Amino acid sequence: MRTRITVRPTGDRTIDLRVAADVRRDLWAHSPVEIDPDNPLHGTHRDEQGRAYFEFSTRYPDEITRVLRDYGHTERVEDRQVKEPVGQACQNCGNIVGPVFPTVCPNCDFRDISACSACLHETPRESYTRIAGDLFRCPHCQSHVRLRFNEPMFLGDGTYNQPLVVVAQV
Ligand SMILES: [Zn+2]
Ligand SMILES: [Zn+2]
Repeated sequence: MRTRITVRPTGDRTIDLRVAADVRRDLWAHSPVEIDPDNPLHGTHRDEQGRAYFEFSTRYPDEITRVLRDYGHTERVEDRQVKEPVGQACQNCGNIVGPVFPTVCPNCDFRDISACSACLHETPRESYTRIAGDLFRCPHCQSHVRLRFNEPMFLGDGTYNQPLVVVAQV
């Protein structure tokens, strides 16, 4: 069972990371948590709302709640059980947001994909339905569009040429 610890935003991203580090330390020291080698989320990531979070495996979720309470973290973080797939990482910084990676990374602002060229909806890469090859259907407007990696993929300084994937009219 995976437990996710999400930091309630303080308004300061650096402080959020410090809270995550403090809570992780207390959980490791005082509760029976396990590292799941298949889950990359034991590091701190940012979810869709930009909140810092991390995950670990435990067979004793009640113990987690107890440690959070005993060490004064209840007001600073929320804990919940998660079952959804881990999801794709940001190509630029490695951040994992959730099962579906959004159009823009909430950690580094990297643009993964442009908005739908037909309806201008911000539509994640995985939300399009593939029809054939690079031809996809937008889930919002049902238009057929082409998804292609930007060319060149990298700029002269070695960084990605954003967006990574360009949505184009057919
Ligand atoms: Zn990123
Ligand atoms: Zn569309």
